[in-house]
Amino acid sequence: MIRHVSLDMDGTLINTKFVDKVWMEGVPTLYAEKHDIKFEPSKEIVVGEYMKVGSDKLEWYDLTHWLNKFELDETKEDLLERYADEIEVYPEVREALDALSEKFNLVVTSNAARDFLDLELEEIGQYFSDVFSATSDFRQTKKSPKVYKEVCRRLEAKPLEVLHIGDHYSYDYEAALDAGLDALFLDRMGKRTGREVVWDLREAVEQICCSSPEILCVEEICDEVTENDEEF
Ligand SMILES: [Mg+2]
Repeated sequence: MIRHVSLDMDGTLINTKFVDKVWMEGVPTLYAEKHDIKFEPSKEIVVGEYMKVGSDKLEWYDLTHWLNKFELDETKEDLLERYADEIEVYPEVREALDALSEKFNLVVTSNAARDFLDLELEEIGQYFSDVFSATSDFRQTKKSPKVYKEVCRRLEAKPLEVLHIGDHYSYDYEAALDAGLDALFLDRMGKRTGREVVWDLREAVEQICCSSPEILCVEEICDEVTENDEEF
């Protein structure tokens, strides 16, 4: 029986505008200023260095690492604060979190570093009992099922009591399943289909609350999907 629902952050709860601005505009702009070059060639150099590392490595997520590597004269805090206005929760998120929080304990499990998460959660932090940064707290990325096992350990929950939802097929879906959790893959592009694929979080709520007989249904949501019952 599901007791806890874990959600990814970027691309799941908030759109990627903020992180894109920090990494793809903020850092390259500072690099361009330092070397007195135009923005586009600067971006090419900076992104080229990101790609050499790749998202499976901890450094990818560590803004201090990149500011130091490029010898940029800016604090991480100032750079994040500059783009904080870009943080944007997806339209259906509050409604989905309202419904889920009636039945489940909610947590965030993200690869994002703690300083990103602290800012990103300013508007919706009240929904979550715990916020886990895989890279800051566990020194792992969600590529490893160990992250999800550690989340379960900290929640004092069995893997089957936790369901994770996120928009990265490997980090959020495959790794969570490998750790024994239940999982839904959030495909906001609507490209994949399948029993464990949802296109937004409203659909995730319908799946979670209406598909498992042992889970009490959130009535008003289930009523709306009665015609789709055979899919579950
Ligand atoms: Mg994500």
